[in-house]
Amino acid sequence: MNIVLLGPPGSGKGTQAKMIAEKFNVKHISTGDILREHVRNGTELGKEAKKYMDAGQLVPDSILIGIIRDRLSKPDVAGGYMLDGYPRTIPQAEALDKILPELKQKIDVVLNIDVPDEELVRRLSGRRMCKCGRSYHILFNPPKVPGKCDVCGGELYQRDDDKEEAILNRLKVYKQQTQPLIDYYTKAGLIANINGAGEINQIFDEISKVLSKFK
Ligand code: ADP
Ligand code: ADP
Ligand code: ZN
Repeated sequence: MNIVLLGPPGSGKGTQAKMIAEKFNVKHISTGDILREHVRNGTELGKEAKKYMDAGQLVPDSILIGIIRDRLSKPDVAGGYMLDGYPRTIPQAEALDKILPELKQKIDVVLNIDVPDEELVRRLSGRRMCKCGRSYHILFNPPKVPGKCDVCGGELYQRDDDKEEAILNRLKVYKQQTQPLIDYYTKAGLIANINGAGEINQIFDEISKVLSKFK
């Protein structure tokens, strides 16, 4: 089963993706995590991407299309995968539609997670991340030991782009460049709408019900 997770920044894609990956045994492919790893390792790609990321802007399509083509060509995706944070623009979706048949793959479902803007700002401003890709929230989803990841014990940090100015920019960018994908995938008959405003576990139950149809 191959899944695309669509939703604004802060809608809970990363949080749900970790739970989905475990239950449904699919690889979690987060382009944000891949880019942050490049930034941490100081690669050329990382240096280029950081300028855009810190400002809350999208990294150019050509870079992302290259990343996703490489990632989907690796043998470990054969058992199924979930794309979190890709595609984020119409050209990225069109590129994916070209890459998939070349790799003899297809997308089964696009989960569209919907959350009101005020809630997104509350979530992003209290988010804390671990290098392993897990995210926490100082109030809504705190770690067991303050400042430490429950799963790997890593030190939690606040992302540079989870500061107010970058947050507002990312929400604007989402509306302009990513929201049109809802229409794109509705026309393709792939969208499943998920109300992302409730409790983490309740949202996961709703997603599980949808996904169990595709297993
Ligand atoms: P969030 O979880 O807040 O939605 P991500 O971790 O997915 O954010 O992405 C962080 C940043 O990385 C984005 O704001 C953007 O700068 C960059 N990025 C990630 N995925 C893409 C993509 N598909 N296209 C362009 N930029 C991307
Ligand atoms: P995304 O990957 O879509 O940007 P995250 O999964 O990182 O979103 O979640 C954003 C923030 O909101 C994190 O701090 C996370 O702990 C918190 N969060 C996720 N889901 C919920 C929820 N259902 N209710 C409240 N807070 C949530
Ligand atoms: Zn961790």
